[in-house]
Amino acid sequence: MSPSYEAVIGLEIHAQLRTATKIFCGCSTAFGAAPNSEVCPVCLGQPGALPVLNRQAVDYAVMAALALGCEVQRESIFARKNYFYPDLPKGYQISQYERPLALGGGLEITADGQSRFIRLTRIHMEEDAGKSLHEGFRDSETRTYVDYNRSGVPLIEIVSEPDMRSAAEASEFFTRLREILVSIGVNDGNMEEGSLRCDANVSVRPVGQETLGTKAEVKNVNSFRYLHKAIEYEIDRQIEVVSKGGRVVQETRLFDSSTGRTHSMRSKEEAHDYRYFPEPDLPPLLVAADRVERLRARMPELPQARRQRFVTSYGIPDYDAGVLTQSGLADYFEQVAGAAGNPKAASNWVMGELLRTLNERGTAVADVPLQPAALAGLIALVDKGTISNAIAKDVFPKMYASGRSAADIVAAEGLAQNSDESAVLEIVRAVMAANAETVAQYRAGSQKTFGFLVGQVMKGSGGKANPKLANALLKRELDSPS
Ligand SMILES: [Zn+2]
Repeated sequence: MSPSYEAVIGLEIHAQLRTATKIFCGCSTAFGAAPNSEVCPVCLGQPGALPVLNRQAVDYAVMAALALGCEVQRESIFARKNYFYPDLPKGYQISQYERPLALGGGLEITADGQSRFIRLTRIHMEEDAGKSLHEGFRDSETRTYVDYNRSGVPLIEIVSEPDMRSAAEASEFFTRLREILVSIGVNDGNMEEGSLRCDANVSVRPVGQETLGTKAEVKNVNSFRYLHKAIEYEIDRQIEVVSKGGRVVQETRLFDSSTGRTHSMRSKEEAHDYRYFPEPDLPPLLVAADRVERLRARMPELPQARRQRFVTSYGIPDYDAGVLTQSGLADYFEQVAGAAGNPKAASNWVMGELLRTLNERGTAVADVPLQPAALAGLIALVDKGTISNAIAKDVFPKMYASGRSAADIVAAEGLAQNSDESAVLEIVRAVMAANAETVAQYRAGSQKTFGFLVGQVMKGSGGKANPKLANALLKRELDSPS
């Protein structure tokens, strides 16, 4: 019998820091500017131009390190990573190599029903390269264009240990990591624009073997779904190779989203010798302990801590806490819950009607037209018994569209629940008279007819009878001898 194999996966994630300007010059980092409009002698690598490190970029990198439990190094060194490529005008990339900004740390993930801690190796700072444009020009068949706007944009590279064992774990790790970086404001999480990119190192080995198999690196996978697919494909491919007695080649592979396969980009023989050496134009980066502590004090609550707080202090289920923190509606929820004094109802409305409406209309969370206090007002009307939950669901889209308060809409449209005992009793008696046969069945012991009769009473009241009152009165009338 052939041995069974396990996958070993490590991720390298490049995250663009959300600074207004580039890492070593004052050019703008704004996405979508006209090609080569955000450039200067520094980021174009003109002779004599000197880099000046962006202080905000360092602060953001330190915040990312703190959020991921890394140890921020008091001294780190920028180095030159030398290679020739058209998108790299200096002929080298400034990156940290032997002495990175931060070491260690990690992240707890839950995948396939199991919680595991995935360790990080390091976080280092570096500059981005320009962007080669292979498509979209009349002569794209024969020429490649280069846009240097991205050249010198600040990045952190986050390198994990090879601690993941499945595509599901890798994609969960990347999801959690993105959530953290976005929540602390250091990265915008936009994979389509390339401000968050992921490379995966994948190898396989027989279960029980300690030494690692030969790895292949899958480059630049630009969505969670593709990351999952690319890793699964790569695991299957490698198991196929080794189980037939072959050897996995160490190489860089690209994922093709149209075929769902990876294919070889360059082999190890073609790999670069980067000839790293310390960048002579930049002093060592010194990050004092008090700077780290100042940044630590300014850090917002992390997603995991917030989820736990929602469960313990609002008493809402884990599931709700997860949806609320991941949807970007956590702040909104807290305001509704606070104003309504009913966290579970707040959670139901925010996760349910509100989130669904936002998704249907493609509205961003930042542009919610409905104030949290207004939604709290709707919840309060339900809690006071003024309207039923069913009526509230009709009121919600009207509030959303008009910005009017729930109380206004309920008053203007006469939607208030009818809790007038004599009025409801009148309807109950009318329903009983019109359904004499069903009433007889109920009295003969057929309990299940009760639901039908309640439905008729509610219908008779145009949905406005207080359901509790309708229930109680109907029961009283049915149980009393006729
Ligand atoms: Zn510049």
